[in-house]
Amino acid sequence: MLLSGKRALITGSTSGIGLAIARAMYAEGAEVILNGFGNADEIAALQEELGGAAHFGTDLTDVAAVEAMMAEVGPIDILVNNAGMQHVSPVEDFPVDKWNLIIALNLSAAFHTTRLAAPGMKEKGWGRIINTASAHSKVASPFKSAYNASKHGIAGFTKTIALELAEFGITANCISPGYVWTPLVENQIPDTMKARDMTRDEVINDVLLVKQATKKFVQPAEIGALAVFLCRDEAQNVNGANWSIDGGWTAE
Ligand code: NAD
Repeated sequence: MLLSGKRALITGSTSGIGLAIARAMYAEGAEVILNGFGNADEIAALQEELGGAAHFGTDLTDVAAVEAMMAEVGPIDILVNNAGMQHVSPVEDFPVDKWNLIIALNLSAAFHTTRLAAPGMKEKGWGRIINTASAHSKVASPFKSAYNASKHGIAGFTKTIALELAEFGITANCISPGYVWTPLVENQIPDTMKARDMTRDEVINDVLLVKQATKKFVQPAEIGALAVFLCRDEAQNVNGANWSIDGGWTAE
């Protein structure tokens, strides 16, 4: 199988996109290491489904906890920085603690895992770093100031490490989905209704899907398949890319 013998740490993999990436990598023979929050029984079931995968409930906004997790995980071949959160609010009302949390999780956590995983990958002479960015790493939408800033930031961070690590057989790329129906999207609907004075259906059709030319939500499994492709040896020259999977949103 394509990823036999590879160890993959996928952050935010107890739900949504991260879980789909973990499933896709496990199906290709990788040893997957899970991270994220959730119900203990549901996580235990996921661990079993994924071949007895290790799980770290580490809060990635806590730098010391990330350092402890990375030390316990040890050397990895594949790092997927995927954990992320959203908050929707006009900038003048944007809660400062939410701003700090979103930057810490969506951007700084990827810096910390990367700086700690890079030496092991360099030693192996092979590595894949995949960062789940967003269409919001390329374009903005109103009322998402922290999220858009964090996602534009991770796109720049990814390009930088792509250049730094390329000669060691390591690639770094972003995957940038449009809207994917996950708890992250579902949970932002009430605040978006408030910020834009819209009904739930108006938010879905006139905000979420309006720019996706396909008029369809992206499926988590499609992102899993793309992440697996980026791990192939044939993708060794795909480096520093920011790969859209957004139904055409950012083509406009
Ligand atoms: P989700 O809410 O389904 O999953 C988020 C995951 O992150 C969960 O496993 C959660 O437990 C974990 N997490 C949250 N806070 C954490 C913390 N402090 N420490 C560790 N883990 C934490 O969301 P999703 O939609 O699957 O989003 C995954 C990534 O995809 C995010 O980076 C998000 O910005 C990005 N993304 C999502 C969409 C979308 O439409 N859903 C679109 C573009 C990009």
